[in-house]
Amino acid sequence: MRGASAAGAAHSKDLGVEIQDLARESQVTNSEPLGGNNQIPNPKSQILALILFGPPGSGKGTQAKLLVKTLSIPQISTGDMLREHVRKGNAVGTKVEAKMKAGILVKDEVVNGLVAERLAQPDAARGFILDGYPRTRAQAETLCGMLNSRGAEAVVIHLVVDYNEVIARLTGRRQCPVCGTLYNLKFKPSKVPGVCDLEGAALIIREDDREEVIRERLDAYAKQTEPLIEFYRQNGTRLYDVDASSEPPEAVFGKILALIQ
Ligand code: ADP
Repeated sequence: MRGASAAGAAHSKDLGVEIQDLARESQVTNSEPLGGNNQIPNPKSQILALILFGPPGSGKGTQAKLLVKTLSIPQISTGDMLREHVRKGNAVGTKVEAKMKAGILVKDEVVNGLVAERLAQPDAARGFILDGYPRTRAQAETLCGMLNSRGAEAVVIHLVVDYNEVIARLTGRRQCPVCGTLYNLKFKPSKVPGVCDLEGAALIIREDDREEVIRERLDAYAKQTEPLIEFYRQNGTRLYDVDASSEPPEAVFGKILALIQ
């Protein structure tokens, strides 16, 4: 796997070629194309819209951060954007706060608007990684329009995680309120229990990581988001299942890189 300096070189190189180089370096096995449309992307299409898809706790955010470093394209996380609005206490934040605390999806027009604005930023011109969007049929249709108008190619990575594993990950999750680093009581404990390794701050439980809210979030995923897999499969989008249950994040990352070449 390459470091940040090599990733910087991607700016001067064709993105598709760079991804192929990177994937060759990673050791990848065991990946299943699902979309039925397994062709190499059009080499003329330089804009990659990588959609990270999966239930809460499947590791979308972790994978997005690894991909950002390697591909030098931005992560667009609707959850992070919404939390930022809540933190600022602005009009959008006020509108969505209660829903987020309850683990319910916020209105499509709110997230569609945020994503449209974000995609217009110059750093998204070469490609981007969508984390937590789209989550409903209406969002998926809006996104199709945005991608078509840019000539961007969508590749959906479906992170598949066992239900019990998801519960264990979410209930054990702790976060540093200062730097945002995520820990897990079982899988990634901090050196001193309850304290951030980097900041020394007391770790907190995200409000929507309480057990009753976790149930709501998983329910929203099953009812509103999971059916999009069928939507993407039917419209011929490249869509891949990646087992994200049993292997460490770096191994999952290697698989993703190989798939998007
Ligand atoms: P997770 O994937 O772990 O549930 P996120 O950080 O992606 O966490 O989302 C947190 C909350 O933000 C969601 O429960 C929902 O209320 C809201 N949210 C994020 N993205 C969307 C979206 N695309 N559509 C509607 N609501 C969203």
